[in-house]
Parts: sequence; structure tokens; C-alpha cells
Amino acid sequence: MSFLDIAGVTKSFGPNTVVHGFDLAIQKGEFVSFLGPSGCGKTTMLRMVAGFELPTAGTIRIDGEDVTHQQPNRRRIGMVFQAYALFPNLSVADNVAFGLKVAGRPKREIALRVEEMLQLIKLPHLADRYPYQLSGGQQQRVALARALAPSPRVLLLDEPLSALDAKIRLSLREEIRALQRELGITTIFVTHDQEEALSMSDRIVVMSEGRIEQCGAPFEIYNRPNNRFVAGFVGTLSLIEGVRAAGGSVTVDGSPVTLAEPSPGAAGSPVTLALRPEAVKLEPSPERVNCLRGRVEDAHFLGSVVRLRLSVAGGTILADTFNRPTSPPPVRGTVVDLFFSPHDVFALQPGATP
Ligand code: ATP
Repeated sequence: MSFLDIAGVTKSFGPNTVVHGFDLAIQKGEFVSFLGPSGCGKTTMLRMVAGFELPTAGTIRIDGEDVTHQQPNRRRIGMVFQAYALFPNLSVADNVAFGLKVAGRPKREIALRVEEMLQLIKLPHLADRYPYQLSGGQQQRVALARALAPSPRVLLLDEPLSALDAKIRLSLREEIRALQRELGITTIFVTHDQEEALSMSDRIVVMSEGRIEQCGAPFEIYNRPNNRFVAGFVGTLSLIEGVRAAGGSVTVDGSPVTLAEPSPGAAGSPVTLALRPEAVKLEPSPERVNCLRGRVEDAHFLGSVVRLRLSVAGGTILADTFNRPTSPPPVRGTVVDLFFSPHDVFALQPGATP
């Protein structure tokens, strides 16, 4: 049985339904991200798990206990928000101690736990500082320690990194994940940042308009998106229009394209093919049996790779070529052959557009 079970949860605000029949079973110790564009219902779903919002229908269970109508403070949940919601008038140590004091824990136990938590977030030397004396990253670490101090059953993180600058975000990503693993705490992480979700999660729940579009491991979501929405929202993707041919293959403006997973559908019907930029190369290889001719429209230097934008008969293709100091990228207007493997091209199912 799963540790956190969300079954058929729907939420309406007046006439607007913002979460529709949400079903999700999370295992103990799992790190699950809710990923989706602004307004898709991520925070509302998280707030229902926390108990700040009541579902219109459905149930939420934690460790077998129905908590759907339970007060937030009885659920034993820790939460960290986007804005550093530390108490400005309390020191770091008092912020971390807050939940334990409210729970009426003995003084000595609180002192030990605060010390332990500050060690865990590697800030024991800042115990007496006040929030305004901390950097954004330090404040979020303290917020994390405060959430974890009362040993919650579930940790809920609502875009905790989005107010921080890029470098701190990267290091805090790793820190949060390492801490979560060390404690084995079941965690839901809300983000609209696909890189964050891909790099941190055991599983990602991709949401759109209050519905789950796909739920799976990062590898699965990235490599085998269920539909056009997921494909467009997670990672960069080129879409080309083709026509189904006999035997499950496809033609793009007359050129045959072989797919490892043949696209079902009647011969002659239109089909949209999807390709990741890293799968398209300018050199052939025994694997890369598909070839389309393209014209270079643009070259963006990204450091380790140069991303080419090429027009082909069926659309636009992005291709990441490795940066080699000895060979500059092809100039605009050059006509090149593009090669890709049948394993790297897939037919999209119709769905919402990103
Ligand atoms: P963001 O990334 O911008 O925070 P989100 O995916 O977390 O977006 P929610 O905050 O869950 O989205 O909002 C989902 C929808 O519910 C939005 O259309 C929002 O306007 C609406 N909504 C949220 N809270 C309320 C409320 N208290 N009353 C009415 N509508 C609400």
C-alpha cells in the first residue's frame, strides 16, 4: 500500500474546477514533483495535502489514515514556501524550534533537535542570527530545517528555489535532494521548472489545467512523453509534419522516415513527428539511418554545444552539434543533411498544445 494516497480529488472555487479527479499513490520515501505551467493547479493540490484547502470531492490518506478533513496542524506535515516565510522577529534557532515549542516538547529535547537540524543544514554558526541577516539560500535552508524539526511524515515544497539566483538554486537542489534521501522523507515538490523536476525527482507528475497529463520517472517523461503537451513542456522538441506510409513508416515531403515504434494509423493520414535537438546530427552513423535535408536558419552558441535551427520540408528542426574550436558552425543559408536514429523519433498523440 502507498504511503500518501490521493484518490479522485477534485477542487472547485465557485463555478471553476481547478483540479479534476486527481489520482496519485506515492510510496514512502519517494520524491515526487508536480510540474506544470502557472495556474495548472499544482499549489492547490499541494494545499489540499497540507490541509489548507478542502477538496470538493475525493480523499487523501497518509499512512493509511484518512486526513481529508483533518486540521493542517494534526497531519504532521512540513512545508516550505517560495517566499522565505521565516518569522522575522525570531532568531534562526527560534525559527527552527517553533514547531517543537507549539507541540509542547520539553526544552532540552528542543535544544538538542535544533542543534541537530542546524548541523544538518550546515548552519550551526548562524543560530543567533535573524532572518534579515541571512542570504536567500540560507533563509531557505533554515525554512527547511524548521519544516523538518518536528519530524513530519510528509514534506511539501512549494517552489522553494524560485526566488533564488541560478547558482544557489543549483547547489540547493542537490542539498535538498541529499537531505531528503538521508532522512527518507516522503516529499512533494511543486515547480514549473522542468530542469529542477528532471534532476531531482523519483517521479514527475506533469499537470495541465488541473489534470495529470503523465506521471513517470524523469527518464520516461523525457524520452517517451505521452502526448504533445508533455513533449512540449518537458525539454525542447522539434515537430515535423509527415504522412503515414504503408508498414508503419512515415514520409516527410517524400523522404522516408523509419520509426522504432511504428505509428499506428491509416496510410496517407497526417502525423506529427517529434525529435530532441541532441538526437539530430550532421554526420551519418550506422544507427542514424534517417536523413532529411535542411537549411541553416540560425546558430546559437550555447557553450558546449551549438544549437542550429534548420528549416526542412516538414517544419523546423533544432540540432545540437558539439562545439569544436577548430570547426566553426555552418553559416546561415548552408544546406546540410540531418541524420537521426529510428529510436530518437516518435509520433505524437494528439493532445493539448503547450
Ligand atoms: P503557479 O505556478 O502560478 O503558482 P499553480 O499551478 O500552482 O500556479 P494554482 O495556484 O493551484 O496553480 O491555481 C490553479 C487555479 O486555481 C488558478 O486558476 C487560480 O486562479 C485558481 N485559484 C487558486 N486559489 C484560488 C482561490 N482561493 N479562489 C479562487 N480561485 C483560486
